[in-house]
Amino acid sequence: MKKMALHWQILLGMVAGVLLGILFNNLGWRSFVVDWIKPFGTIFIKLLKLIAIPLIIASLIKGISDLKDISKFSKMGLRTIMIYIMTTVIAISIGLVYVNVIQPGNTISEETVAQLSASYNTDASARISSAENRKAEGPLQFIVDMVPDNIFAAASANRNMLQVIFFTILFGISLLLVDEKQGAPIKAFFDSFNEVIMKMIDLIMLIAPYAVFALLASLVVETTNGDLFAALAWYALTVVLGLITMIAVYVTILYFYTGKKPKFFFNGIMPAQLLAFSTSSSAATLPVTMERVEEHLGVDKEVTAFVCPVGATINMDGTSLYQAVAAVFICQTLNCGLTLTDQLTIVLTALLASIGSAAVPGAGMVMLVIVLDSLGVSKETLMVGLALIFAVDRPLDMLRTVVNVTGDATVAMLVGKSIGKLHEPKVKNWDDYYFDNLEKENLES
Ligand code: ASP
Repeated sequence: MKKMALHWQILLGMVAGVLLGILFNNLGWRSFVVDWIKPFGTIFIKLLKLIAIPLIIASLIKGISDLKDISKFSKMGLRTIMIYIMTTVIAISIGLVYVNVIQPGNTISEETVAQLSASYNTDASARISSAENRKAEGPLQFIVDMVPDNIFAAASANRNMLQVIFFTILFGISLLLVDEKQGAPIKAFFDSFNEVIMKMIDLIMLIAPYAVFALLASLVVETTNGDLFAALAWYALTVVLGLITMIAVYVTILYFYTGKKPKFFFNGIMPAQLLAFSTSSSAATLPVTMERVEEHLGVDKEVTAFVCPVGATINMDGTSLYQAVAAVFICQTLNCGLTLTDQLTIVLTALLASIGSAAVPGAGMVMLVIVLDSLGVSKETLMVGLALIFAVDRPLDMLRTVVNVTGDATVAMLVGKSIGKLHEPKVKNWDDYYFDNLEKENLES
């Protein structure tokens, strides 16, 4: 029998998870879900994170050492950063247009503001204090932070992804520069290391449909406050409309620049999008994004290995769009009066804030503090403002993470095309690569 494609399996898992969550919530069996189902979702996220650093090291070294011409690498780096900045500015502009046209802030009554800020005050102050630590840093700190002083320390935490990338690029370039015969054993080692890591992703992905079931079931039982949710409907709708528009922008650009149809793109990237939705973390989704971009969208390894991890860390179009909408929404609700200059300030700070946001759940909201701060709002307004949007932050986080991941995949294809590294993918049809491969191997053995 033909296996169901991976994205359908994941989707099925998600729907089943939501249904079970609702049922158990109604039966009052929340703790059963938290104690007995949630851990499987947590294990899956840990497995994905576990694979991220070895994957970046293996595929970047393999990618760079396969390069014939090193000048292509600097060209690729420059283009990647430029396109990332461009897509982020587009995202912020879309957010600003929607929030100014729809004006969701004018739909909220003062009572609701009071109710929301009373409910989420503590959560808001936690976000503000994490943002304060970030603000104390100088303007060039992020470049300083990119250079590790100890590779083992850097590789010991996933948040140091850029440091690991820095070391690995230096290592890969040096490997290219040493005598071919002397570098051969290291190259052979990393080629084989890379194969093994790719196989580990296949294995981890086998449990993806069950894991998203667990993740969504626990999310449903842990989410409360449906009423407050409704009060924020216009705000949430503005963000969602913006995010959908951004996805439309991606597929349009891809169609005109690479000739690839939206169906091809979505077939390839959808499992990564669904995981981004279920985990709310582009870092956790990274191994799957890289795998899909390379195997299903046809971008060569040397591009994927660089563009995707860098994108997961610095390119967050969904987050920046959300930050722009949220900042203006808060100002509309609390009447802080925004000038045109303020809106331009938002473009700049949301760009920087999204670069600085970690690729983990809720990070975009922490960096929103910096955007609001640049508008000169008082600490009090900041507190109320964050408390205001807290109730709907998780679902919006899930959706903006989908856009973040889609943006990384889009840029990988654009950069790949621009330097002649976009080809027909190895896996072309709807059939599931992971399962097919495993099945084939089982039959052979
Ligand atoms: N959860 C987002 C991500 O990982 C970041 C955010 O916007 O909070 O991409």
